Amino acid sequence: MRQGLSKLFTIGFCLVLAYGLIFYVSFKRPNPSIEDPSQVAQSKPDPEEVTEAEEGPYDETLTIKEGDTLASILSRLDIPSPQAHEAMTALSKVYNPHDLRVDQEVYVIYDNQVEGSHYDLKFLRIRADIDHDVELVRTGSNHFQATKYKKDLKHDYMNVGGNIQVSLYSDALKEGASPKMLYDMIKAFSYDVDFQRDIQPGTEFSLFYDVYKDEESGLERPGELLYARLVLDGKPYEIYRFQAPGEVPGYYTRTGEAVRKALLRTPIDGARLTSGFGNRKHPIQGYTKMHKGVDFAAPKGTPIMAAGDGVIERCNRYGGYGNYICIRHNGSTKTAYAHMSRFAKVSAGSRVRQGQIIGYVGNTGSATGHHLHFEIIQNGKHINPQKVTQLPKSKLGGKALREFKDAIVRIEKLLQDKNQQPMLIPASKLLPSESPGP
Ligand SMILES: [Zn+2]
Repeated sequence: MRQGLSKLFTIGFCLVLAYGLIFYVSFKRPNPSIEDPSQVAQSKPDPEEVTEAEEGPYDETLTIKEGDTLASILSRLDIPSPQAHEAMTALSKVYNPHDLRVDQEVYVIYDNQVEGSHYDLKFLRIRADIDHDVELVRTGSNHFQATKYKKDLKHDYMNVGGNIQVSLYSDALKEGASPKMLYDMIKAFSYDVDFQRDIQPGTEFSLFYDVYKDEESGLERPGELLYARLVLDGKPYEIYRFQAPGEVPGYYTRTGEAVRKALLRTPIDGARLTSGFGNRKHPIQGYTKMHKGVDFAAPKGTPIMAAGDGVIERCNRYGGYGNYICIRHNGSTKTAYAHMSRFAKVSAGSRVRQGQIIGYVGNTGSATGHHLHFEIIQNGKHINPQKVTQLPKSKLGGKALREFKDAIVRIEKLLQDKNQQPMLIPASKLLPSESPGP
């Protein structure tokens, strides 16, 4: 910031000097009209021409259009190409010119060349991202220096709420919620809420999160979702962000129950359940057989996720199962995935996290169409994945639960204050500091 100020002073000083010089030159310039009165009318300077001659340095804020590059902009400003090349070389030390996006603004100062009919680039500033500015300053003939500055952002909180008319996503966006925060909210609730079935028009929602604002541009970057709430059939579902000692941050209900279940009921997105668990007529052989899992129909290549954290026990071709993966989650629970078209970058012995892509839908082995056959095996017995809620959920206890209760009080105090007035409490005071992950 201080460096930026001194730079501003230098530029300001140069501007004053330049104007002074122009004033001096125009003052000293002999007026031909005095020598030859007949010329007066003819040479009466066009007011526009006069301003142009006396102008400079010039400054402009350019908006990047489709197909623009920094080089093409400089060429349009009539900056000679060797100079533009030097400028780009200096800039690329702190900024990748390929990061330039449509609608991004570039502020430039340039001036008439002392010798030559083009322009000299004096200064250039790009907002690299919300909290970084990149500045390029001319330090000598065809020499430039580029610096990246971190901007100071104001920390604040956002509380967005309303009633669902169309969908949580579209209605909350309309209320001004950050898409990232909405995504986190939907993901956290998706273990308990079926968004297609349970959400009715009029459903009340709210989300509370922190933001980092750049007051100059009005841009803001969301921090973390701290609290979210949905009211379904008059019953509130609330989740609070909390980092239990030695664990990654997660969301918990008021009673300290983790929203994240040990296993996903549906380890695939956007698939349709086509065959449930239990006895059924075998689609190929025709006889009645116990179906030891559930089938989800999905287009070939749809990603399949690990239903829970664990270690891959088996990852190979396995008879009628085709391309098959079995994951061991703990001493008693395993999950299996069959008929994959191919595996992701995993193999037997790989450690996987819940939600990690392990393979892709196919119809290898004995399968009539592209689908995922999914099994949950507990203590050597196949169980119905649709009844996955019977699996233990992780619940906070002891010291972690006491810390969580304090965190709830802090979050609710912030929420209450935010509803009354703007807040300015640093995030470090709100949540326990990040501890190294497991
Ligand atoms: Zn099946």
